[in-house]
Amino acid sequence: MTDRRYQEAAFEDVMSTVEFRVSPRPHITVDTDVCRSCTTKACVHACPADLFVPTSEGGILFNYEQCFECGTCYQVCDGEGAISWSYPDGGAGVVFKRG
Ligand code: SF4
Ligand code: SF4
Repeated sequence: MTDRRYQEAAFEDVMSTVEFRVSPRPHITVDTDVCRSCTTKACVHACPADLFVPTSEGGILFNYEQCFECGTCYQVCDGEGAISWSYPDGGAGVVFKRG
């Protein structure tokens, strides 16, 4: 019998199996006017892709490209209406490949 113990994959190896098909229509948008009055900026620390960048003026820059579609920012955001989410257009978004 083969010994198939779990081996932790390197982050780079995992990411090499992911393809981002970026749609011209953002599937996630951020109302940065709401972000200006946000005191937690929870998204900055929660987003695993580091897509929320605080500005020196207290605002937020957001780039939807390379979004993992994990939904974490939507869960942690405490700014009413700051984040709007819709599913990516067909053929766009994150594609996971095997092998
Ligand atoms: S947590 Fe929400 S409201 Fe606060 S900065 Fe992030 S996206 Fe904006
Ligand atoms: S859905 Fe996930 S990866 Fe995409 S912006 Fe939100 S926290 Fe970041």
